[in-house]
Amino acid sequence: ATTPAVVTVTGAAGQIGYALLFRIASGQLLGPDTPVRLRLLEVPQAVRAAEGTAMELDDCAFPLLAGIDIFDDARPAFDGANVGLLVGARPRTAGMERGDLLSANGGIFGPQGAAINAGAASDIKVLVVGNPANTNAFIAAAHAPDVPAERFTAMTRLDHNRALAQLAAQTGKPVDSIRHLTIWGNHSATQFPDLTRATVDGTPALDLVDPSWVSDTFIPTVAKRGAAIIEARGASSAASAANAAIDHIRTWVDGTPEGDWTSAGVVSDGSYGVPEGIVSSFPVTSDGTSWSIVQGLELDDDSRARLDASVAELVDEREAVRGLGLA
Ligand code: NDP
Repeated sequence: ATTPAVVTVTGAAGQIGYALLFRIASGQLLGPDTPVRLRLLEVPQAVRAAEGTAMELDDCAFPLLAGIDIFDDARPAFDGANVGLLVGARPRTAGMERGDLLSANGGIFGPQGAAINAGAASDIKVLVVGNPANTNAFIAAAHAPDVPAERFTAMTRLDHNRALAQLAAQTGKPVDSIRHLTIWGNHSATQFPDLTRATVDGTPALDLVDPSWVSDTFIPTVAKRGAAIIEARGASSAASAANAAIDHIRTWVDGTPEGDWTSAGVVSDGSYGVPEGIVSSFPVTSDGTSWSIVQGLELDDDSRARLDASVAELVDEREAVRGLGLA
């Protein structure tokens, strides 16, 4: 294809944006045959910084980079967009109530959903990275009634990748020997990183690791990895989050490999008792166009309880968002 794909990135001047844009422009998002036109959306006070990043992008002389435009208004930023990476969000600050956090993000993701509805390309694929990612995706989808809800997704691929890395280290096997690992629920500390179906070189993971390692080390390490990185690095994870965003879109566009699945926050169709309409992480496959939730997995009592707890949090967030009139 010679027509460039339009990729809109919000929060483009932030840490994740800085780790993301150069990889997109080099062809790592949509492959070596697809030129990209970048559209960067920022708040007005960060437009200057986004211009600096755009200068650096120019200076890389990427052959696939067809152009860069910078906006502080969502409408033109999403005009014609094929891919939307929604990274910019209002972070939780000390003493902030959940309602304040959700209101601030409703003010960001509602208008962005409306802009996508108004002007994005008919094949738009949206990934929400900015937290609370699942609920922000829910808000954006609610403001885009003409866009199929399945096009709105939330990122749990970083949690998935973190889980792969932890299991690989524990078993001494390479990450690509692992299949059928799942992150369920919310991208938050309540998420359920699930090894019950996972295999390592074809052997069930649970035959290789101790049950107490799973409950006492694996699950909390994956769920709290973001905080551990802030503690060690003095800043939140950015390159690994950008990497996971690239992985998510690449899998969406290329399809999942035969005999495996991945994890993504998608709009629930009621599968596994997750209320319809909620954006929850599931085991999913892609055929290159749409995600499908893997069906027919049996959840044992422990898994059920863990999934239910995370889904309860998502239901609470949905009710709060509705109560605030944000969706
Ligand atoms: P980052 O680029 O580090 O993070 C952006 C968002 O990604 C945050 O909501 C963050 O959540 C989230 N996130 C999701 N997964 C991860 C992860 N694994 N590690 C770290 N963060 C993760 O934030 P910056 O403050 O550097 O940049 C944000 C930019 O967004 C700023 O330039 C700001 O101006 C812009 N912005 C743009 C908006 C717009 O375009 N309309 C609206 C709001 C902000 P968490 O806070 O929970 O870490």
